[in-house]
Amino acid sequence: MNLSAKEAPKREDRLKSRIAYGGTLVSACGIFCGKGGGCGADANRTFSQGSICLMLPGISMINTLKDNVNLLHGAVGCGVCSHSQNANARSGGLAHYGLVKDALWVSTALNESEVINGGEDKLRAAIIEVDRLYRPKTITVVSGCVPGLIGDDVDGVAARVQDEVSARLIPVHCEGFKTKIWATAYDAVYHGLGRTLLEDPEIREPVIPDEEELFRFEERKKRTVNLLNVSSMGKVDEDELTRLLNMLGLEVNIFPVFADTQRMYRVKYAGFSISTCPTHDDYFCKFLEEEYGIPYILKHMPIGIENTNEWIRDAARFLGREEAAGEIIKNENALLDEGLKTYREFFKGKRVFVSAGEFRALATANLLHELGFEIAGLRSFHHDEFASGEYEKLKKIAGDFPFNIANVQPFEEANLLKRLKPDLFLGHWNGNSTSAKLGIPSLVIYNTGLSYIGYRGVFELARRLYRQLRNPAFNERLSRYVRLPYREEWYGEDPFKYIKGAENDV
Ligand code: SF4
Repeated sequence: MNLSAKEAPKREDRLKSRIAYGGTLVSACGIFCGKGGGCGADANRTFSQGSICLMLPGISMINTLKDNVNLLHGAVGCGVCSHSQNANARSGGLAHYGLVKDALWVSTALNESEVINGGEDKLRAAIIEVDRLYRPKTITVVSGCVPGLIGDDVDGVAARVQDEVSARLIPVHCEGFKTKIWATAYDAVYHGLGRTLLEDPEIREPVIPDEEELFRFEERKKRTVNLLNVSSMGKVDEDELTRLLNMLGLEVNIFPVFADTQRMYRVKYAGFSISTCPTHDDYFCKFLEEEYGIPYILKHMPIGIENTNEWIRDAARFLGREEAAGEIIKNENALLDEGLKTYREFFKGKRVFVSAGEFRALATANLLHELGFEIAGLRSFHHDEFASGEYEKLKKIAGDFPFNIANVQPFEEANLLKRLKPDLFLGHWNGNSTSAKLGIPSLVIYNTGLSYIGYRGVFELARRLYRQLRNPAFNERLSRYVRLPYREEWYGEDPFKYIKGAENDV
């Protein structure tokens, strides 16, 4: 992370990320995990359906920040997905601060004249107005496509107006046209936070008065871990991971979703950082290590039994507390084995299709296999080169099955689901609407009010799946009355016929 640069690099360049693949898990492993670890970043589609841009995941993080107003600098409608995220901002705010509050966001809503003559004056006026009206601690100035295309100097405006306002200004670059990998949004937000909120002298740093105090401070620092959260996990999941880390004797600093912008500097005072999603965190973990010497653990999501076991073992290794970790794992696994008996019996041999962001999809498939399901198929939204090892891991336990990389593309998903006919579908809301209309029992994996992560997540998810599969009447009936928009001929075609640069072997 180069703080002198105004914005983060796009993932296509930084991680050779890929958005298209059609084949099987084994064939994908051959490409991703073979000598040289080819990612096929140039793979693409000759036909593609509309999808989201990086603005959506970017502001899903930003809209959670405490005492922040999100000022969108862009065309009318840019960033309007804030409406759909508001329920999460309100329920998450209640869980984290005991306060039900809407996400505060406003827009410069650039018109035709400003597109031609430039939007910098309007942005400057908007920043001052937001500062006077809401008196926030910070204002994130998020730029969309239009200022990027017309060349507005968003960082220059923010720097010039900073002395006229009391809020700290945080420029974040989310110009949708610059990348097809929407996970670039995480880097963009971390870049903005890293540039403005970690070193500001106006923000209180810990005071170290004498040597004894310094010793205590250093000791405490060693015992503190940065737990990097994501906007697709809720407080209930944070509590589960905090519970496990506390059992190892660690103090937990949760960052950045629902974090207090005035206390973000604390992220510099930790013994190590641990990621809950490598897709989300690799950019910032590497920055903390390079800039402040804070090592990190960045392997997989703590979703599923073995993934959680390994996540705890890794954390314990930093403290030399492997024995304590072994004890925790033994006890938690024994409790789970007992609690899951009925469910495992019921799930045995049922076939499931999973669709999600890369690490969540892979970890969820691991979890479902542990519950007794067979993996019928898997879709990842994209692929980063550092995820390759996780494919090998899944191959070893779950064997081979159809595998697709798609930045949503519901037409491919519909085709796959029709031919694979799984007993169950797990995915985000968009994919769930496709599977639900096909009559497949479906469960949304992005529900921040419900437990999903750690040992508790395994049990709670098993309970929800059990209920869903015991009574699939809703989806069965739904499929009788609604239909997907594709012609019948499409279902006879190769689902990956529009993918270029990939091996099609389903
Ligand atoms: S950043 Fe660009 S693509 Fe994304 S919502 Fe705004 S205008 Fe649309």
